Amino acid sequence: MPSTPREAFDLLLAGNRRFAAGTPRHPNQDAARRADLASAQRPFAVLLGCSDSRLAAEIIFDQGLGDLFVVRTAGHAAGPEVLGSIEYGVSVLDCPLVVVLGHDACGAVGAARAAVADGTPGRGYLRDVIERVTPSVLAAQAAGVSEDEDFIATHVRLTVDFLMDRSRELADQVDAGRTAVVGLSYRLADGSARPVTARGLELSSDPAPTS
Ligand SMILES: [Zn+2]
Repeated sequence: MPSTPREAFDLLLAGNRRFAAGTPRHPNQDAARRADLASAQRPFAVLLGCSDSRLAAEIIFDQGLGDLFVVRTAGHAAGPEVLGSIEYGVSVLDCPLVVVLGHDACGAVGAARAAVADGTPGRGYLRDVIERVTPSVLAAQAAGVSEDEDFIATHVRLTVDFLMDRSRELADQVDAGRTAVVGLSYRLADGSARPVTARGLELSSDPAPTS
């Protein structure tokens, strides 16, 4: 089990490469693993991802039981419960990695872009999701972005910034080198996750399975 941010990141990306290549191993999904974990969990990464049904975390990173501490909301919108869950994963479970996972053609980002364009705030609690994503849409527009992929990358980056700004606990753990935060952009069609930003971890030029 990885204990450093680098080891955790490499393990996670290796799993995504297997999935993208169509050669998953489906590790840690048997009865023995279930029994081993019954008394305690020691996941190696916290994953904050979009709820999109095509982003099933353990599938797209080819992991199993006890590997990932997963928090998913539409558009990886982060409010207090999300921040608390991430802090639990980092401070109580000692996860050496936090991942923010966005993806192309994200419905939440699309809804926020539409809301900005037409001034339609969204119905019910969908409004809260849109309000959490809107700052990213505005920032991307201010930067002259027009491609969907660039909106997604901006939203991933700003979500990482948001987590680090709001959670003193997370920022302290990153400063101490005990964990790192990496933002990934996932492509629905080919199943690859590409790093777009990192805190507490040097991104080499190698890792992205590029097109
Ligand atoms: Zn989405």
